[in-house]
Amino acid sequence: MANALTIAGSDSGGGAGIQADLKTFSAFGVHGMVAITSVTAQNTREVKAINDIPSSIVKKQIEAVAEDIGIDAAKTGMLSNKKIIEAVSKAVKKYDFPLIVDPVMVSKSGAYLLREDAIDYFIKHIIPIAYVITPNRYEAERLTNLKINNMKDARKAAKIINGMGAKAVVIKGGHIGKKANDLLYYMGKFKEYKGELINGCTHGTGCSFSAAIAANIAKGKSIEESIEIAKKFINIAIKYGRKIGHGNCPVNPDAWIHIPAEKWNVYEELKDAIDKILSIDIVDIIPEVGTNFVYALPSLYARDINDVAGVEGRIVRAGKKAKMVGEIKFGVSRHLAKAVLKAMEYNKNVRAAINIKYDESLIKNAKKKFSISYYDRRKEPEEIKRKEGATIPWGIEEAIKRAKKFPDIIYHKGDVGKEPMILIFGRNPRDVIKKMENLQWK
Ligand code: ADP
Repeated sequence: MANALTIAGSDSGGGAGIQADLKTFSAFGVHGMVAITSVTAQNTREVKAINDIPSSIVKKQIEAVAEDIGIDAAKTGMLSNKKIIEAVSKAVKKYDFPLIVDPVMVSKSGAYLLREDAIDYFIKHIIPIAYVITPNRYEAERLTNLKINNMKDARKAAKIINGMGAKAVVIKGGHIGKKANDLLYYMGKFKEYKGELINGCTHGTGCSFSAAIAANIAKGKSIEESIEIAKKFINIAIKYGRKIGHGNCPVNPDAWIHIPAEKWNVYEELKDAIDKILSIDIVDIIPEVGTNFVYALPSLYARDINDVAGVEGRIVRAGKKAKMVGEIKFGVSRHLAKAVLKAMEYNKNVRAAINIKYDESLIKNAKKKFSISYYDRRKEPEEIKRKEGATIPWGIEEAIKRAKKFPDIIYHKGDVGKEPMILIFGRNPRDVIKKMENLQWK
């Protein structure tokens, strides 16, 4: 297992600093270690207090892990003062590991994290030992005294910082222009890592980005490849940030492994449930258009139909039996997936649904046991009709708003050329099956 060290400050809000770094190391399967430089009392809104750790303790933390566990790569974040900078510089020289430097100066909330009087010291002692340095626009401006308004300016700055001794320089584009293009200058060549600006959570982007580079360098990847992976990683972490606190919400480094893990869970649970309904006799409740059974990722990750698994081609009648036309996949259901996504807007725990044939007696019976609602397709407004794929979300919303309690079942009685239908919702596929069994449709 690769071992990576973060030499940085602690963010009590868990969004940036060593907390973000450790989550990032974990996401890449790297063992994370820490040398805390400062303790900050911080949340998504502000840094309330900073207490620098004595430099001798910073040094001891690095020594302790270097001498026993070994450091495959390290990264620096907040290096508050001259003494800490000196201690880190000495330790890096002594143990000779690749160092990724995030030249943190000011927090997203505006607090100074590197003392003004320590910046020259930082340039003199840290930049020359940097394997990769990752300044954002403002940091690059401060280090070079250049104004950076575009990528051409960024190129100039990268060359100057390289001249100060950093082997590779990445000028991050999060604050330059309308794109998030990062610029690498390494071995005399430029390379751009292109990206769009994402409207998500950005507290801790710089920390997680540099930690991702460090994790991949620790695993033996090249500088170029590590940055490429870090860029993909940070996009996901920003997009799926958890909207916590009242200020700048933090990135979600866990998303990198959480999404694939949740996809697998969704697939397995849905497959078990479908195996079960195929083993019992459901032929009689399959409508003309077929049945689908869908299950969405947890609400944080469920944005569109590609985040909802279902049966490709649906489940249809084949003689006296029901069978799946295709496989269980994400993004293969349109109608039912949209129904679930709409339901999740009102109750984020309702992630699964099945559609079955409309049957009046079944609805009558169900009324005794479940919360039931309906919508009338004949009342669908013209503008909804004209919009591709808008009918189902409109109908589900109508039904949810009409119901006193969030409905377990939503039905509609059809329209000209539209088959009537019953939708059964649940927290997961097993929950849906339990409700179906309770309906005693046979
Ligand atoms: P810092 O936290 O040091 O200011 P940046 O936010 O500039 O760091 O950049 C960290 C990484 O995140 C870079 O790869 C940058 O391009 C990317 N990034 C920052 N903000 C956004 C955003 N809104 N959308 C997409 N990528 C972003």
